[in-house]
Amino acid sequence: MNIVLFGPPGAGKGTQSDRLKEKHGLAHLSTGDMLRAAVEADTLLGRQAKAIMDEGALVPDDLICSVVADRIEAPDCKRGFILDGFPRTVAQAEALDRMLESRQRGIDVVLLIEVDEAALVGRIEQRMAETGGSRSDDNVETLKKRLDVYRRQTAPVLPYYRAHGIVREIDGMQSIDEVSADIEKVLAGID
Ligand code: ADP
Repeated sequence: MNIVLFGPPGAGKGTQSDRLKEKHGLAHLSTGDMLRAAVEADTLLGRQAKAIMDEGALVPDDLICSVVADRIEAPDCKRGFILDGFPRTVAQAEALDRMLESRQRGIDVVLLIEVDEAALVGRIEQRMAETGGSRSDDNVETLKKRLDVYRRQTAPVLPYYRAHGIVREIDGMQSIDEVSADIEKVLAGID
């Protein structure tokens, strides 16, 4: 099963991905984590991405698409994967469909984690406190930019997937366990 986890920054995609990975043996593909690893390792990709990430903008589509295209070839993706933070633009969604089609695969479900914006700022502030500010893009200023980018560039991906009839809404304002339970209900219905 191939899942896209969709929602604004701070919606809980990473937390739910970890749970899905454990329970269903799926690979967790977080493009944010991949980019942060590249920055840490000071690779060419990391050097290209760092300044863009720090200001809360999106790295170019072709760059991130080639990273994902390579990653989904890895053996741990055979049983299926969870995409977390990708696709973030309509062009990325189209590129993903082309990658998967050529391998006779596809996205089975897009889980839209809905949260209200006022709660997001509070959550990111909490994450900043817990991680001691280890993410250089976790500050209120950049968060506002990331939310704006989400609204303008990423939200338009939803109509694309709605047209395919694969979007399922999840109430992300519930507790972590309740969100997981709702996700499991949706997945049971599509297995
Ligand atoms: P968030 O917690 O804001 O959802 P992520 O950890 O998913 O953040 O991503 C952090 C940053 O990495 C983004 O703000 C962006 O600069 C970059 N990034 C991650 N995924 C993508 C993508 N699919 N396309 C372009 N940029 C991306």
